[in-house]
Amino acid sequence: MSSGTDRGRCRDSRNPTGNTTTGPSASDSVGSLLAAIANLIANGLRILSFSDKRQWGPDEHEQVHALEDALDEARKDFQELSPLVNGQLQYEADRTHASLEELRALRDKFHTHIDCLRDWSRSGGPIDPTWVRDTHILQRDLHLAQYRAARRIFASGQESTSRCLGAFLVHRKQRDWATRQVAGVEEGAYQKRYLEELRACNRVGSFQRFGDEDIAFVCDFCDGHLIWEDLDRMPSVRTAHEDATWPAAPAAPVSPTGGNPQWQATGFSHSKHEEKQVVFAPEAIANHIAPHPGDWQARLLCPICEAEAAKPQDQDDEEYVWRPDNIFDDIPAFQEHLEWQHTTTTTIPAPTGNNCILM
Ligand SMILES: [Zn+2]
Ligand SMILES: [Zn+2]
Repeated sequence: MSSGTDRGRCRDSRNPTGNTTTGPSASDSVGSLLAAIANLIANGLRILSFSDKRQWGPDEHEQVHALEDALDEARKDFQELSPLVNGQLQYEADRTHASLEELRALRDKFHTHIDCLRDWSRSGGPIDPTWVRDTHILQRDLHLAQYRAARRIFASGQESTSRCLGAFLVHRKQRDWATRQVAGVEEGAYQKRYLEELRACNRVGSFQRFGDEDIAFVCDFCDGHLIWEDLDRMPSVRTAHEDATWPAAPAAPVSPTGGNPQWQATGFSHSKHEEKQVVFAPEAIANHIAPHPGDWQARLLCPICEAEAAKPQDQDDEEYVWRPDNIFDDIPAFQEHLEWQHTTTTTIPAPTGNNCILM
């Protein structure tokens, strides 16, 4: 993603190189760089608050709101991410090289951006309306930079074959439902849960059309792509509910104790518009692993094999051997494994009808 500040016209006239960097410092940390960025945004707001408001039109007010939004989101992200990486102190003190590089570049872009506002306040006249868009782009870049920084800290405490932080957040939600599950769950509760699962996914990344026929999910934490090939729209419910004995004794969609896992959703192929079974999106998203460096496709691990492996094993039982290196390179490989290993025939169809979400 490129920053719109590169197009900022004030920089071209005043500082053709755009070189407003303060340079790398040995004392830089994620915390110090985030603080520097927050200060720059606060400076921007201060500059606007001291300017002559009698001349203001809608563009000036919109610029204030854009800066306020950027600051609010940065603060919110910081507060939400800290507890996921063992607290604020650890997050602030982090010095992962890639995170520092990314945040330094971003600080410099904010620096240039705020300089534009300072020049405008000195010269007067109407504000450049394109700067609002620049602020929005920088806000998005800052959001992603914080997510990625948190993911790097999270990954450093895990095996390289473990879930991405984004996957972990969806997986944790599914686990909560599994443990809260009580007998006699009604139809509406399933529908609500599927929606909440998709909502959890939308908080860690986004669905988008990929090429003419495919649908991608892109994780904000690892930038990994999951690709569903030849799919018209992403289905929003599972094909069948979890347990054949439902509603007497339903199990969770992903039952850590085994049960009757239902990973399928019914979609339509984009090319032929025929019904087809696909991996229910949250099922894949909750189990993705960040791509290898330089790669773009997220990998996947099987949660059902993982749960099986967590059970006490019989010494002589060679039927089930969990191999943590048994990682799937993409959705088709993951689906093939699920079809061969974890497909049950006794299913209770979920209600059909309007079961697709618009992306
Ligand atoms: Zn991810
Ligand atoms: Zn498996």
